[in-house]
Amino acid sequence: MPQRIDRIIKLLISAVFFIADCFLDSFFKALGIKRQKSCTILVYHSVFSDERLSFAQQMDTLLKIGTPIDVSRLGKEYTQNRPVLVTFDDGFRSFRENALPEMVKRKIPVVVFVPSRCLGERPGFTAHYKTRVMEMVMTSEELLSLPPELVTIGSHARTHAHLPLIDQDTAEQEIFESRNDLEVILNRAITLFAFPYGEYNDQILEWSKQAGYQQVFSLLPHRTEKNYFLWGRIDTSPHDLLVEFKLKVKGAYGWLPWAVVLKRKLKKFSRKSEKRIYS
Ligand SMILES: [Zn+2]
Repeated sequence: MPQRIDRIIKLLISAVFFIADCFLDSFFKALGIKRQKSCTILVYHSVFSDERLSFAQQMDTLLKIGTPIDVSRLGKEYTQNRPVLVTFDDGFRSFRENALPEMVKRKIPVVVFVPSRCLGERPGFTAHYKTRVMEMVMTSEELLSLPPELVTIGSHARTHAHLPLIDQDTAEQEIFESRNDLEVILNRAITLFAFPYGEYNDQILEWSKQAGYQQVFSLLPHRTEKNYFLWGRIDTSPHDLLVEFKLKVKGAYGWLPWAVVLKRKLKKFSRKSEKRIYS
C-alpha cells in the first residue's frame, strides 16, 4: 500500500479512536471514576535543517496540548496535563544541530538512544530508513557536549543489530557491552535501552534486565508492560501533519499494536489456508 494512503488510513482510524476515547472519558467522569493517566512517548530519528521549522512548530504544539516530562518521571504518578516524553533514536548529528537548539529554547527534556560502536560513523543501518542522506552518528565529543540537565543518553545496542536474529553471544554483547561502552565514554550510569528496529522477544527482555537496564523501549505505542519495564513509543517525524502530530501526542495511535497482532494472525491464517489448498 502506498505510504501516503497508509498514513491517511491510520490518521482516520486514530481520529475515530480519539473520539471514542473522549466518550469513554466523559462516561467514567459521569460515574465519578478517575481513569489512570498514561504518558505518551514520541520517538524521532532525524531532523534535517529544512525540517527544523516544522519540528519547532511541533514542540510549540507539544507545550500547548501536553506537558513534556523528564524520563525520571516515567512510571511515577502523573499530576501534569497529558504527560509526554520525547525520545530520539540513533544519536544522529542532525539531532544536535537542528532539534536540540529548539528543545533547549523551550526547556524540553529528551532521551537520545545511541549505538555505542557507531560513534562518528555513517552506519549502514540508515539505508533501512530510506532517508535522503546517510546520516552521521555523533562522535563521543559531541555526546559529551550535550547538556546533561536536558539530555539523557540511553543505549541503542552496539551496532544497531537485529537482536532476535543474531546468535546468543553477539546479542548479549550488543545489550550488555553497549551499556559498558557508553558508561566509559560518558562517565555516568546508563539505565535505558531502546531496541534497534523495535525488535525484541522474551529472552532479549530478560537479558536487558540482567544487563542492569531499568527501562527499555520498543517502537509501537503499547501500554507499559512487565511492571513498568517495557515502554511503547509512537514513531514521529517533522513531516507529520499538525493533526497527525496532535493525535499522536494525545495517545490516539494506541490502537496500532492491536492492528499489528491482527495482521500477524491474518497472515498466519492465510498461509495455513494456502497450504490446505495446495496440499
Ligand atoms: Zn534505531
